[in-house]
Amino acid sequence: MMKVRLGGYNIDAKTIRELAGDRYEEMTPEIISASYARISRDPREVTRLREEARKDVEKARNSNRTIVFGLGHSSIAEHAVFNFDVMGISRLAVEAVEHFRLASFTEKSQRYIRLGRDFVVPEEISGAGLKRDFNGLMRYLSDTYLRLYESIRAAGGDDERAKEDARYLMPLATTAQFGMTVNARELEYMISSLASHPLAELREFASRLYGLAGRIAPSLVKYPDPTEYFRSVPSVRAEIRGKAGGKDASIVRGGPEAVLVDVTPDADRRLAASLIFSSTGMSYSDSMRKAAKLGKKKRAAIIASTMKNMKPHDSVWREFENIRILFEVIVSSSCFAQLKRHRMATIIVQDYIPSLGISVPDSVRKAGKVGVLKEAASKAGRIYRKIDSRVEEARDYALLNAHRRRVLFDINLRELYHFSRMRSDIHAQWEIRRLSNMMCALAVERIPSGSMLLCGKDSFDKRKKDLFG
Ligand SMILES: Cc1cc2nc3c(=O)[nH]c(=O)nc-3n(C[C@H](O)[C@H](O)[C@H](O)COP(=O)(O)OP(=O)(O)OC[C@H]3O[C@@H](n4cnc5c(N)ncnc54)[C@H](O)[C@@H]3O)c2cc1C
Repeated sequence: MMKVRLGGYNIDAKTIRELAGDRYEEMTPEIISASYARISRDPREVTRLREEARKDVEKARNSNRTIVFGLGHSSIAEHAVFNFDVMGISRLAVEAVEHFRLASFTEKSQRYIRLGRDFVVPEEISGAGLKRDFNGLMRYLSDTYLRLYESIRAAGGDDERAKEDARYLMPLATTAQFGMTVNARELEYMISSLASHPLAELREFASRLYGLAGRIAPSLVKYPDPTEYFRSVPSVRAEIRGKAGGKDASIVRGGPEAVLVDVTPDADRRLAASLIFSSTGMSYSDSMRKAAKLGKKKRAAIIASTMKNMKPHDSVWREFENIRILFEVIVSSSCFAQLKRHRMATIIVQDYIPSLGISVPDSVRKAGKVGVLKEAASKAGRIYRKIDSRVEEARDYALLNAHRRRVLFDINLRELYHFSRMRSDIHAQWEIRRLSNMMCALAVERIPSGSMLLCGKDSFDKRKKDLFG
């Protein structure tokens, strides 16, 4: 008979502290990990195993140490989950934190709130004697942001538009807030790689995470120390730059914001073959031969059949993951903040490069304030160069949300569907919406059948009707 029991769930830390009283030290998610760790070799029911782990927390911890670190069965640590409230961290640091894909984040959006004067003064910048310059820039940007907000409003933009677009002028040193849910395995990885980060702010973040979680789950978050492997990344990059013939060799202003640089060859045929493979008993090579023989029209019909019952929130079939598309995009920091949230993509970034220019919102053009944004970018650029000459690693704190970087965005076709539903939709922010539309158009050129229903949620019904009647 099937039995399903609730093994555990996350509740807020204050409630745990209030209810636990003297037994607070025993309130640890290590119990869940320890009991699940024993499932594979112990014949007893998992519920019994958890009871046992609950009775002797030290024994459970020892068992975790042996299984996770001794035997290398690290996935056990994934059963322990933490929630962190994070405040007062810079937008620049958030980029490094949200680089970790096996975690969940919800961030206070700069799109919906009016920003104040809260920014981080990085230790490196104070240490290099640049605090006055930096603070001066921050004050100037906060004041100009407010004036830009008012100008957009005066030119007919509503409050939401004005907030959304004036923030292009705000710096990456602006503070952010987010909630993060992460399992102990990913957390340990996050701590040890951020402990090796060139920025002091991120090293402090890593140490705070360890201070909180290491006490609660010492048997699962065990190796918080920086490693030579992570620490050496900047010097290895410098070596690569040297070998490639210098920094910033091929920077050009302007140019397209999205280019499709690589795609699975013969993608429609391969997609049809994957669908034939999973729906028949044929080998993959026979499925490929069959897909070739069927011809373009019948292949398109096979692909279309998987979408005929689809609704806007449904994902396309997993077979679409067999098709991979590599885009090179140039995006502002504002746009990147949204792009990086797509955890099923492989995202490779370059540093921000001020000579790539800035992204300018239409509302700023309409308000006749392009010059204001450009002037702010150029002032920020001057401080950026000053910081660069003394503490290179901290220079990006001075840049604006409007500054741009190049990104390689490697995405499978199934995730591109998900991406386009959210990001080509009418509710999406304008820059990522424009990017998503460009990426979809490029995909349609190379994968016409597989991409037939790529579109935002808002246009899904019409597109589907056009295709299926
Ligand atoms: C209009 C709009 C407004 C937004 N506003 C905010 C905001 O104010 N603040 C904010 O923080 N974010 C905001 N976002 C970002 C949004 O919350 C998502 O983080 C982002 O769009 C990435 O999409 P995704 O979470 O669906 O997953 P992706 O990372 O793209 O993953 C694709 C799919 O994989 C699955 N998946 C991936 N990881 C997990 C997981 N850990 N558990 C379960 N399933 C998983 C899900 O099915 C998911 O849809 C906004 C997005 C839009 C479009």
